[in-house]
Amino acid sequence: MTDAPVLENYVDGAWTPVGGADLLDVPDPSTGALLARVPRSRAIDVDSAVAAARRAFPAWRDVPVADRARRILALRQLIEAAAEELARSVVRENGKTIGEARGSVRRGIEAVEFAASAPTTLQGAFLEDVTPGVDTTLLRQPVGVVAGITPFNFPVMIPLWMAPLALVCGNTFLLKPSERVPLSAAILARLFGEAGFPAGTFNLVHGDAAAVNAILEHPGIDAVSFVGSAPTARHVYTTAAAHGKRVQALAGAKNHLIVMPDADLERSVPAIVASAFGQSGERCLAGSVVVAVEPVGDPLVERLAESVRHLAMGPADAAATDVGPVIRADHRARILQWIESGVAEGATVAARGTVPEGPAGFYVPPVLFDRVRPEMAIAQEEIFGPVLSVIRVPSLDEAIQVANRARFGNAAAIFTRDGKAAREFAHRIEAGMVGVNIGVPAPAAYFPFVGWKGSFYGDLHATGRDAIEFYTRKKVVTTRWF
Ligand code: NAD
Repeated sequence: MTDAPVLENYVDGAWTPVGGADLLDVPDPSTGALLARVPRSRAIDVDSAVAAARRAFPAWRDVPVADRARRILALRQLIEAAAEELARSVVRENGKTIGEARGSVRRGIEAVEFAASAPTTLQGAFLEDVTPGVDTTLLRQPVGVVAGITPFNFPVMIPLWMAPLALVCGNTFLLKPSERVPLSAAILARLFGEAGFPAGTFNLVHGDAAAVNAILEHPGIDAVSFVGSAPTARHVYTTAAAHGKRVQALAGAKNHLIVMPDADLERSVPAIVASAFGQSGERCLAGSVVVAVEPVGDPLVERLAESVRHLAMGPADAAATDVGPVIRADHRARILQWIESGVAEGATVAARGTVPEGPAGFYVPPVLFDRVRPEMAIAQEEIFGPVLSVIRVPSLDEAIQVANRARFGNAAAIFTRDGKAAREFAHRIEAGMVGVNIGVPAPAAYFPFVGWKGSFYGDLHATGRDAIEFYTRKKVVTTRWF
């Protein structure tokens, strides 16, 4: 047990032991076996990474954007070559299946590819003769030092939403990955180094809330990109803003999937099951509540229940596994409490899967609840586990009202053959990412990832042109030549 590696920070282009810091165990969620120990970096450790990033900033911002984009292309090739290593690392430390992990790495690569288009996306604007002989130029310049704080559920993809875009815009960067999945971040740091990013431009600081709080208060950090749970997002947003930083904080979710009576159940049910139970429900785009517009309830629940009973739960690296473990034992305990609360509040358990008997990992049985009422806690709170609730309503109007009463507004989807219903849904639903016959409506990286309501704090979203705006400051130059 004691020979598990102790992870190091990556600061100023060098691996740096974090002497004197407490260590946290990093277990494999599939087996409970110890994979590594991760240091809880302190303010002093954050400070040395910020100092390196600040030193690197003046030279990096003056590198022509086409050369910065070439570094991004080099990184893309290295990530492509290491894609399988990265996916296996995600399987090991996060517990999602290899197919899910490979998909998440691909989505990360997509964000890197978008970053490489910076010579076009960073262009400003020019207007001749705003008054006679006077011209106006709008420039985009980097913000400075950017910190990225990331969650456990996408160990590769979410850091890649942030670092390549921040860097290509001319900023220097500090990544504070989730302490629950620090190993893939270490592979990414190695790849940034191999891609030739100068020392100090990309830094990795391991740790938990203490490191985050040091980041939020550090005067040397100009902008913070955060993805994680709602309470942390609110804390990050308010604290970083109070310290004068630009912040985007992507938060939790409770996504509604509306199923109309005319839906193609044959194809909709697999999409709903994949949305709710894929990655053990540990996805911010996971479908969590099905709103069944009667009379679709009975046939829908019957088919969903059949599918849920057949989900194979097991170790993430086993070929037969449909649903892997959840991230930690304490998270499993919380999900089991939610399941108990659903039963106590009077929901019907329409199907309950089984957990594997052999491995000592963190397994939760997939559960399908029927006859859930909108006011029940399981219908309102983010469970972030393999639990799906069915609410039955008489009309599309009521279905939309149920979804819109939720305090989160990340994603929502409708399953229907009726274009008019789909259009009305897309128009009225108060969620930023909307699917029509799509269970996980994840925008491609050249579009923004747009949570609404309690799912997002800030104004400029991650990825797409919003990210270019977030990672740059505009400057307007007014010129007259005598
Ligand atoms: P989390 O909030 O526990 O942790 C996120 C990050 O914040 C980690 O780096 C962690 O070290 C740090 N952190 C945790 N507690 C903190 C505290 N009290 N003070 C300061 N920093 C703290 O989130 P998680 O459990 O890792 O991730 C799952 C959550 O992320 C879910 O709620 C999910 O919906 C959300 N998520 C949202 C999106 C999105 O795009 N909206 C995407 C992925 C995940």
